[in-house]
Amino acid sequence: MEKRLSLLGATGSIGIQALDVAEKLHWPVTAMAAGSRVLPFEEQIRKFSPRVVAMADENAAADLKVRIADLPVKVTAGTEGLCEVASVANADMVLNSVMGVAGFLPTLAAVEAGHDVALANKETLVAGGAVVTDACQKHGVKLLPVDSEHSAIFQCLQGCPPHGKAKKLILTCSGGPFFGKTKADLEAVTLEQALAHPNWSMGLKITVDSATMMNKGLELIEAKWLFDMDPDDIDIIIHRESIVHSLVEYEDNSVIAQLGVPDMRIPIQYALTWPERVPSPVKPLSLAEAGKLTFFAPDHETFPAINLCREAIKRGGLYPAAVSGANEQAVALFAAGKLPFAAITPLVARILEHPWGAADSAEAVLQADRDSRQLLLELAGERV
Ligand code: NAD
Ligand code: MG
Repeated sequence: MEKRLSLLGATGSIGIQALDVAEKLHWPVTAMAAGSRVLPFEEQIRKFSPRVVAMADENAAADLKVRIADLPVKVTAGTEGLCEVASVANADMVLNSVMGVAGFLPTLAAVEAGHDVALANKETLVAGGAVVTDACQKHGVKLLPVDSEHSAIFQCLQGCPPHGKAKKLILTCSGGPFFGKTKADLEAVTLEQALAHPNWSMGLKITVDSATMMNKGLELIEAKWLFDMDPDDIDIIIHRESIVHSLVEYEDNSVIAQLGVPDMRIPIQYALTWPERVPSPVKPLSLAEAGKLTFFAPDHETFPAINLCREAIKRGGLYPAAVSGANEQAVALFAAGKLPFAAITPLVARILEHPWGAADSAEAVLQADRDSRQLLLELAGERV
């Protein structure tokens, strides 16, 4: 069943775990891409011997080229380079774990090259869901979810009646580091506190998104596109232990859930080996050790980000792309110490006050992303 992989976002949290999975499966990695960190990427290239690599940052790519001049590897740069890695002919499958909307064009490039895509980069679907799903249909390509909740739903739908029979998708949400806090408590939150996720160790942006709960809103939109589900039929439930990864409610009110220890190597591996299952290095789940599983309704007053995203996807068109772009910009400002945590969601919400057009092309999606970032910067500037 061996598949040759192309991996984008190799140096990130998901990328590193994906390489661990590929190594244990003894699968070759024929192409790899990363953002700007040369040294860890060089180490990965020397270990996995891909034939084509790309770095988003042009200077980093130039530096890398010199450092690996002794290897038979083609080094490319920028979005074009990432797209070349995504569409490389000698790969059977692409895993996209780039952070942010930078993953959108590479996903499209992979789809247009006819490669199935294991998708961790949720911003691809949040910003450009219509464009990407249309391209998948046109090219007969599958999107395999890597995000743990979406992998869980995908697993719950296996072997069941066609998913038209699924009445509801229920996404679980850990609640993040600020579960139980009030709006007032969130006023003085620091970056360090926002990055202290209780159950998962992840990249910066998704960790901050988990703290604002924007991540769950983005996942709601991601689920709409992956499973062609009406957003009104997608529920969110807080589950502190991150053991039940999500659930599907069928027409007969039977609910099927997927459980496991919180380790991304399970959903990564399933996206790669589907429809087969193979042994995993992840430890088995001990329910006795877990003791109890708890569930709570989300606190939408303290964390309005879920409803903000629900509103964006209901309006459709470029609204989700605008929310995604503005949020990415707001998180970058927060990480740079230029915006308080509590301002992120209210500022992103103001993006909805503007008219956004139809999501009828990749260019339109990227333009909305750029415009919404600019608007967010202006709105953030007005605060001071
Ligand atoms: P990360 O920040 O740890 O890694 C991101 C990777 O993308 C790195 O390799 C980085 O070099 C690369 N990158 C960053 N900016 C880039 C750019 N402009 N162009 C090209 N490459 C760039 O992030 P992560 O936590 O691994 O998350 C990656 C994606 O997977 C995100 O979309 C996230 O929402 C999703 N995801 C992550 C997890 C998790 O557990 N980490 C779980 C579910 C979904
Ligand atoms: Mg998730």
